[in-house]
Amino acid sequence: MDGVHWPCRGVAEHAYCPRLFYYMTVEGVFVPSADTEQGAGTHRRVDRPSEAPPPLDAASKAGRGKSAMEKLEEGDPANDPERPRSVRSLALTSDRLGLTAKLDIAEIAGTTAIPVEYRKGRPKRPWGFAPPVDDMMEEARLLPGPEPWPTDRVQLGLQAILLEEAGYTVTEAFLYYASERLKLRVVVDDALRREALAELEAAKRAAAGERPPPLVNDPRCPRCSLQPICLPDEINHQRLTALTVGGEGVDEQTTPRKLWPPRDDGIHVVLQREGIRVGVRGQSICVTDKEGQVVRDLPLANVESLAVLGGVQVSTQALTAFADQEVPVAFLTAAGRLVAMMDPLGPTSAAVRAAQVRVLDRPERALELARAVVVAKIVNQRTLLMRNHASLPGRVAADLQESASAAERAVTIDELRGHEGNAAATYFAHFAGMLKEGVKEIALRFDANGRRRRPPPDPVNAVLSFGYSMLSNECTVACRLASLEPTIGALHATRPGRPALSLDMMEPFRPLIADSIAVAAFNRGELSEGHFLDTAAGCALTDAGRKAFFGAYGRRMDTEVRHPAFDYRLSYRRMLMLHARLVAAWLVGEIPTLAFLTTR
Ligand code: SF4
Repeated sequence: MDGVHWPCRGVAEHAYCPRLFYYMTVEGVFVPSADTEQGAGTHRRVDRPSEAPPPLDAASKAGRGKSAMEKLEEGDPANDPERPRSVRSLALTSDRLGLTAKLDIAEIAGTTAIPVEYRKGRPKRPWGFAPPVDDMMEEARLLPGPEPWPTDRVQLGLQAILLEEAGYTVTEAFLYYASERLKLRVVVDDALRREALAELEAAKRAAAGERPPPLVNDPRCPRCSLQPICLPDEINHQRLTALTVGGEGVDEQTTPRKLWPPRDDGIHVVLQREGIRVGVRGQSICVTDKEGQVVRDLPLANVESLAVLGGVQVSTQALTAFADQEVPVAFLTAAGRLVAMMDPLGPTSAAVRAAQVRVLDRPERALELARAVVVAKIVNQRTLLMRNHASLPGRVAADLQESASAAERAVTIDELRGHEGNAAATYFAHFAGMLKEGVKEIALRFDANGRRRRPPPDPVNAVLSFGYSMLSNECTVACRLASLEPTIGALHATRPGRPALSLDMMEPFRPLIADSIAVAAFNRGELSEGHFLDTAAGCALTDAGRKAFFGAYGRRMDTEVRHPAFDYRLSYRRMLMLHARLVAAWLVGEIPTLAFLTTR
């Protein structure tokens, strides 16, 4: 880390949460939240750079008229053009300390400087709430007053040190908490300097080490925008459970709180009609047909992912807009095979990818991951059959249970593949039994063919293949967002162009998502013989068939399901993301074991 200059705001974040500091400063991960957007709004007003600070020998006439702090108290001090000695957005750096800072405001008077920082929120109150201002009770008056948060003090301390290195004298600093229009004074003394420098050293040590563990049951986590990436409670649940003997003695602190919203509110767009075009108009994504008529107008900010199938045109401007918003764009063939993905150059954790290569290169560790996905897949196949088969022979469930147990004991990947193959043969031999009387013809065709992929010979095989392709695309997106390299897997061997890890990840979800969609869509009559074309290249969905499929697919991905270990509900799409992030946590050693979603 030699030669790196740490931003003092980042160092202050280390005091708030070392893991947050690591994510933001070392891995470059940042997720905006309502709080950060409001904070950015507050800073936009003070961040417009003003003129440079006056030279030290000329700066002696400060104090004429109202001071910047007086104007600041009046509400909008940053817009006053007559504030030549209130320098906004002052950038300072120290090679000696390896530290940089951008001060919201520095009030310069002669050789004296006063740093001023803006915060959109409230100050710290030792009693934890703000007493009513108009109706203040006597008891509340006796309580200690509001005070700056420790992180804010550290930031001001570091700014003061940088100003002193530049030759100024700094004896005090101010924090302005915008939501209460409250200005608090901080004395700059040796104690503050020591505290700030100690935090800087701790931050440098943390940056050179491994990602720190998450805070335990901390009230800061629910408001932290990195929470869906950090997964504090989920990781602590697994980490701390493993630290106790046999999982006993775990107190309720390790039971995950339900911090994630069960679904995202974003739009996942799939475009498949030949000849349509995707462009950008202002802040919207505009989809037009061959004649140039607008078919769809979508707010860009709400789009979470885009998948285009076959001959859909996407303009360079639209691709750039998606890249700016870090929206992954998947390009698939008309049959749903993923051929390329636009992967925005957003934050990517090199630590996770390095760990993936290191860990999966060791056969015994690769086997752990492969075992986890195969066991969960077989358990889910068994559950789907038991739930939907009209007359499942008793031995089938027992055979699948035995395959799952044997997979759990497998000592090589080849042995594991053998158990997976046996289970698949049993499962697909009874798959057609999940289809109802009304689709008997379709069921009979599948029974006669069995599971066949290339080319799919009948409607059920066609829907299964199409569903697996879409699922593999979802898993690739989840891998990318979790900083995983999709081409390096465990169960699936790495081959050029093969998303081996995505294929591994999707194994437990095949029965839960793709197979389930096929069974439900045929049984409900959403898909029927008329939605398929038999060609020399096999049986394929028509345009109308694909449209019907995507209706069922979207609903399934939005369906919420309970996680058996964490005991909260998430949509299937969020489950994929959760599992990708847990795989990343396992690879970097944050959690000791892996288990994939199984349902009852
Ligand atoms: S979720 Fe909690 S532990 Fe994770 S970075 Fe945020 S504050 Fe730190």
